[in-house]
Amino acid sequence: MGRIRSRGFMKKSIVATLVALFVGTASAVSAQGKLNVIATTEDLAALAREVGGDPIAVESSAPGSQNPHFVEAKPSFILKLQKADLLIVVGRELEIGWLPPLITQSRNSKIQVGAGGYLDASLTAQILEVPTGQITRAMGDVHPLGNPHYWTDPENGKRIGKAIAAKLSELRSNDRAYFDQRLADFTSRLDAAEKRWLAMMAPYKGMKMVTYHRSFPNFAERFGLDIIGYVEPRPGIPPTPQHTLDLMNEMKRQNVKLMLVEPYFDLKTPQAIGRETGAQVLVMPPSVGGVKEVTDYFKLFDYDLGLLVDAIKKTGAN
Ligand SMILES: [Zn+2]
Repeated sequence: MGRIRSRGFMKKSIVATLVALFVGTASAVSAQGKLNVIATTEDLAALAREVGGDPIAVESSAPGSQNPHFVEAKPSFILKLQKADLLIVVGRELEIGWLPPLITQSRNSKIQVGAGGYLDASLTAQILEVPTGQITRAMGDVHPLGNPHYWTDPENGKRIGKAIAAKLSELRSNDRAYFDQRLADFTSRLDAAEKRWLAMMAPYKGMKMVTYHRSFPNFAERFGLDIIGYVEPRPGIPPTPQHTLDLMNEMKRQNVKLMLVEPYFDLKTPQAIGRETGAQVLVMPPSVGGVKEVTDYFKLFDYDLGLLVDAIKKTGAN
């Protein structure tokens, strides 16, 4: 009887030690609660999850299946902004049509533009298509400060991850070592994956294609693809008959057999172009959550590159 009791006691003390150890590693969380992080896209939320881990709670303002230029933020989003410790935005005016009034209405001083809890992820990323002349939104172009779809290059994923980790460490200095370790782990996993992705795409260097919106220039540059035209005449402007005709002629001239369409665009024009030119229409998400299989940043590239390689093999277009 005594033996059993003492064994039971031993077990309890081991459990207590384990609990103490566990609580020890998570002390910052239990003492201060989780950092509330709001990201404007699922891609930034996914990157924040990679480097933030347990001490942060992340939500995005819109599902990745929506056009990020035209988010319809729900009123409940203001409540989330009120409680946020950190707001991560894509920047380059991607959110200009809906976010600024919500930030003001949240009356949360932590996340106002320029405050410690506001992070513009574009500031550390490589930005393509920065206009040299004067471009205003009055012309209808929704990319007035360069291309805002920069997360589609894993090299930019690393840069964004680093900026988020630095910001989290600034806001929660007790967890600095933890965030540093998460960042190192994320970066090395992404390095390995990128090597694999580049090898997968190496045989298709210079492959010509057309995309609906200008969502993939960073992706194309990283993986050696040649985007020769767009279904939209300008970013954010729906297709016109003349532009569609010009595009089809160019596709025929250059023998383009692939067309990428983001999941939130109407397929009518792309399919008509496909019928006329013989090009295959691929619905390809530029964002995490764009299709249900793409649940994290790594799966975005696994899915898109897999889709692309399958289609290239099918069309025999290389
Ligand atoms: Zn865009």
